[in-house]
Amino acid sequence: MLKNKTTLEIDLSALAHNYKILRAEISPETKFMAVVKANAYGSDSIAVAQKLEALGVDYFAVAYAMEGEILRAQGIQKPILVLHPQTDQLDGMQQLNLEPTIYSSKGLEEVIEYSKIQSVPIHIKVNTGLNRLGFKPSQLDSVIELLIKHPSLKLKSVYSHLIASEDPDSKAICQDQINAFNQSIKLFNEAGITVPLRHMTNTSGIINFKEAHFEMVRSGIGLYGFANGTYDSKLKPIGSLKTVISKINELSKGEGVGYNSGFVADKAMRVATLPIGHADGITRIYSKGKARVWIHNQPAEILGNVCMDMIMVNVTSIECEEGDEVVLFDQNHSASEFAEGAGTISYELITAIGSRVSRLVKQ
Ligand SMILES: *Cc1c(COP(=O)(O)O)cnc(C)c1O
Repeated sequence: MLKNKTTLEIDLSALAHNYKILRAEISPETKFMAVVKANAYGSDSIAVAQKLEALGVDYFAVAYAMEGEILRAQGIQKPILVLHPQTDQLDGMQQLNLEPTIYSSKGLEEVIEYSKIQSVPIHIKVNTGLNRLGFKPSQLDSVIELLIKHPSLKLKSVYSHLIASEDPDSKAICQDQINAFNQSIKLFNEAGITVPLRHMTNTSGIINFKEAHFEMVRSGIGLYGFANGTYDSKLKPIGSLKTVISKINELSKGEGVGYNSGFVADKAMRVATLPIGHADGITRIYSKGKARVWIHNQPAEILGNVCMDMIMVNVTSIECEEGDEVVLFDQNHSASEFAEGAGTISYELITAIGSRVSRLVKQ
């Protein structure tokens, strides 16, 4: 198979390091759910899940059922929670031993109907403030009533999600959510239902809300740093996005660069063309100096508009030639930093990395 020179290197030893660091933040009895949705945040969900399974994670989570199917096809054995199942998928999920989240009344009706054929493991999501998926605490009485009435629904866990666990200014809001979650669990207990697992914290929640670890935590393992760029210095980014210089052009003052001459040289310049563009996840927002790449550890800003397959960068003051390595982000230059200049977050950058970018998994 031919490889693209534009590669996303995935360092599984950094992954193992991060897992160890996060595991040390929780008590030994607390379970660890690895969230490997969106191809493990744009990396390689199979390589990441296989490594984490070998390291001993207790549970996996994916967003959509089809992501779980990919993991099962590669032999992943541990339980897999589907965070966001869609209608008519219960049978398919059951066949693959994927466990659905029930997050709405319609979903509950559907699973009750299905449970008349066979028993189904389910996870109930409570909406404590994010207002995305889940039952409001005020709806739980009727949910509980239905669980009691339909014993072939096997409750595996009850969970919720914090709205801003990484943000010190949102501490009070998250605390209110934790209180609402505790109140919700009480409703289950008072009705005589034992909740086997409660879980609420994501990666930054593990560190910032120790009181909310409950029986399990959920984590994307800090694959590239936290969404807002406040990176816990103990964690290592596991991914490096690299390419090589395809061509160098010498420009005179007044010459344009790229489509619609998105940049015009204001002096004599050297410009390098790189084989990565918006088809690879470098969207238009990075155009016109909003992001820079690193060549021999020196910054080279993007000139003009991002093309489908290429970008052009300013190498006027960098000694370099065709074939030289170019870093978009790595352990020294974070994905958050790359994303922030364009007003976005690392998660958007990394999950957009296209399938054309070769994944290079380092053990
Ligand atoms: C994505 C996701 C997580 C993981 O979040 P990180 O901040 O990457 O650890 C946890 N829980 C839910 C419900 C999610 O959607």
